[in-house]
This record gives sequence, C-alpha cells and structure tokens, in this order.
Amino acid sequence: MRTTTVVIGGGQGGLAMSRCLSTRSIDHVVLERGEVANSWKTQRWDSLRLLTPNWQCRLPDYAYDGTDPDGFMTMPEVVDFLEKYAAWVAPPLQTGTTVTSVRAFDGGYRVTSDQGEWDCRTVVLATGAFNVPRVPDVAAGVPASVKMVTPTDYRSPDQLDDGGVLVVGASATGVQIAYEIQRSGRPVTLAVGEHVRGPRMYRGRDIHWWMDVSGLLDERDDEVDDIVRARRVPSMQLAGSPDRADFDLNALSEIGVKLVGRLAGIRDDKAQFSGSLRNKCELADLKLDRLLDLIDEWAAASGLDDEVPPPHRLARTVVPEPPTLLLDLAGGRIKTIVWASGFRPDYSWLDVPVVDAKGMLMHDGGVVDAPGMYAIGAPFLRRRKSSFIDGACDDAQDLIVELAAYLDRQAIPGPRTAAASVSARASQS
Ligand SMILES: Cc1cc2nc3c(=O)[nH]c(=O)nc-3n(C[C@H](O)[C@H](O)[C@H](O)COP(=O)(O)OP(=O)(O)OC[C@H]3O[C@@H](n4cnc5c(N)ncnc54)[C@H](O)[C@@H]3O)c2cc1C
Repeated sequence: MRTTTVVIGGGQGGLAMSRCLSTRSIDHVVLERGEVANSWKTQRWDSLRLLTPNWQCRLPDYAYDGTDPDGFMTMPEVVDFLEKYAAWVAPPLQTGTTVTSVRAFDGGYRVTSDQGEWDCRTVVLATGAFNVPRVPDVAAGVPASVKMVTPTDYRSPDQLDDGGVLVVGASATGVQIAYEIQRSGRPVTLAVGEHVRGPRMYRGRDIHWWMDVSGLLDERDDEVDDIVRARRVPSMQLAGSPDRADFDLNALSEIGVKLVGRLAGIRDDKAQFSGSLRNKCELADLKLDRLLDLIDEWAAASGLDDEVPPPHRLARTVVPEPPTLLLDLAGGRIKTIVWASGFRPDYSWLDVPVVDAKGMLMHDGGVVDAPGMYAIGAPFLRRRKSSFIDGACDDAQDLIVELAAYLDRQAIPGPRTAAASVSARASQS
C-alpha cells in the first residue's frame, strides 16, 4: 500500500496530527495497535484523573466544552473525550495494527505491520513517550518474598497483599499511588529523589491556570538553556482530585507516609537510601519559590494583583530526622515495591538510526534526525507542555508546517540533497 504519510499511534498525538494532515489534504493513514486512546484505556490505574484541568484539554480545532471546566477527567472520561475527537476528526484509522518495523526505503519509508506494509514519504511517530516503566537495575536484588509492581500494571491497592509497601519515586505517579495505598491501610515508605513540588491552588487559581496564562507552559525548547536536562525534569507532584488537595510530601507525611531518600542500592536484602533527602527537599522548596516568584511577577505586570489574593509561600517540606538509610526487605514488613521511577518510550521497532544509547529519540523540536520523519508527544518536544494533551495541539500545528514544507521541497525537481531535509524551523531562522 502507498500513502504520503503514515502516522503511528492513535492517541491524542496521532489524532491531532491526522487532523492537521487532513486540513492540508495530505493523504495519510493512522496505524494503532489497539484502539483509539489505547494508553489511557489499558495502561493507567483505576482512580487516576487527569492532573490538568478540563479546560486544558485542547486539540487542533477542538476543545473540552463540558459543564465542569475546572474539574479533572477520570480515565473513562478521557477515553470518551478522545473517542469523540476521533469521531469528529474521522481519521483514516486502522486499529488493531501493530507496527513492527520502519525502515528507509526508496527515498521515503517502508512501514511494516502485522496487517501489511505501507510505503510512504513521511512518517509521524505518535507512539507515546511513556510506553515502558523504568525499573532500575537494583530491582535484581529484591528478595523473592517481595512482589514488584509497575504503574502500568498497578490498578488499585486491592491487588496488593496486606502489609508494607515501598514506593520508589515521588513524582506525580509516585505520590498519587503512595497516597491511595497508604489510605488503604498498607503503610507506605516513599523513596524520594529529585522532585518538583507544586501546590494545586495558588492565589485562588489552579497552578496550571497560572502556568498557562503566564506563558510558562508555552516556553519553547529553543528558549531554555539546557534542553537535554529540561526534557528529564520530573513531573510536578500534583493530582486532579475533586477537592483540589495538594499531593506534596507534607501532605503525604500528614497521612502517615514515611519519607526516605533516593533508593541507592539493595544489598543483602536491605534497601539502602541516600542521605540526600533534606537537600532534595530544600532544592524543591527553592524551585517552588522561584516558580511562585515568576507567577507573582507576571500577575503584577498584568494588573491582576487586585483581583486575586496576595502572594504567599508554602511551609517548607518537613524532613524526618534522623533519616532512614536502611530498610530490611526480607523481614516481612515490606510486601510490595511499586516502581514509580519513570517511564521511557519504546522504539524497539524503529529500524532507522535515530535512537540514542539511552533509547531516546534524536530530534530537534519533533523534527527527527532522518529526512521526512517527525515525532509528537515527548516531554518538552517543542514546548514545556508538549507531553500534555494541550501540548499536542500547538505541536501538531507546528509539525504540519515542517512536514508540508518537507514535501514541498521534495516536489521540486532535481537531485535530492541534504537541503531537502532541512527543517522549516531551521530555514526560517
Ligand atoms: C500516568 C500518566 C498520567 C498522565 N496524566 C496526564 C494529565 O493529567 N494530563 C495530560 O495532559 N497528560 C497526562 N499524561 C501525559 C500524556 O498526555 C499521555 O501520556 C498521553 O497518553 C500521550 O499521548 P500520545 O498520543 O502522545 O501517546 P499515547 O496516548 O501513549 O498514544 C500512543 C499510541 O500509540 C500506540 N502504539 C504504540 N506503539 C505502537 C506500534 N508499534 N504500532 C501501532 N501503535 C502503537 C499505542 O497503543 C497508543 O495508543 C499522563 C501520562 C501518564 C503516563
């Protein structure tokens, strides 16, 4: 089969790209291994709600228009939202189609799937950035008596044995899972490394509202000093609970979660934690202050100061003293470890040399280091908000410009040169 563009993945990123391709009448197909919104249907735990408010569910030419703009969607609601978007976009979608290989072919690409092959000139990788949970190598030292769970196979506390749980990782996923497991009566120890603290509400408004209106979420990849580092920044400790509660470390300590430092190793059935917890917490408090400073400066400059409550700062994170440095995993107190230590993308099927030694895609703002190949949906792909639903909107609208310009350049008769792969962004600058 032949088409101009193959979009791989039928999540928000793939659907957004399909909408933009259709708007430009670019012939394409969207290949999805499961169904629309597969990741939201199959890889999230039961109680999860979006941590982004409903008003922030914006996709190309489409946005949330329900009665609760400040609420937070449950997973069935997210699936419903994306299914409605898919029905509206009406993409040339082929579900139940797993792509097993993409390789360079005849000046374009050959995309091989379990349902057949497509030859195309351009490819969009919209397969998601959170496909595989990161489980550190130290997991090999966990004694057999302790069960291990990752966020993609975790559903609810009920699936865990009674008894203590060690949750490793204190970003959005770790703090949310730690909270509900602790509330289920299983005592949680939370291993905390570098983290980003955030209040749900600040000066009477949602923190995402502030970050949206002040332009913080729109900050571009070419505006930050160190994009490699920016792409690795952990997600903010937030949850979308109906009571708009905070999910920071103080909130967790208050319900009895025990805080320890980063998991540094496991030896002789004992978990060893770094003594850096205080430092990590002080750093997170400092960074939070800086974020709130930026918000306050923006509020003052925008004349909002009289409309919202005055600035304030949050209580410092309370760090237990002395720090716990060792935890016996074999003594029966810990029954389960939840590895909330991050996710990584899976490009094992990509037979084009665009993945680095760490398994990350090599790209410049979603323009992959291979002519005619584009990606959407990765952290800080083009903007700070790139991995959010909201990010797919602006990123898709930018990437379609890149992709269309590439096709136009290819259409110019004459030998294809390296210039044919220059991104529209590079040629504009
Ligand atoms: C726990 C968690 C909570 C999140 N919470 C929020 C939130 O509150 N708000 C927010 O805006 N964002 C949130 N995100 C981030 C982000 O919006 C989601 O990860 C989102 O699913 C990304 O959309 P996507 O289209 O880029 O990727 P995905 O939704 O992952 O879509 C990729 C699609 O590609 C398909 N696919 C993968 N490989 C292949 C293949 N080889 N062949 C064919 N199809 C393939 C998958 O089945 C999937 O349907 C969260 C992410 C996680 C992990």
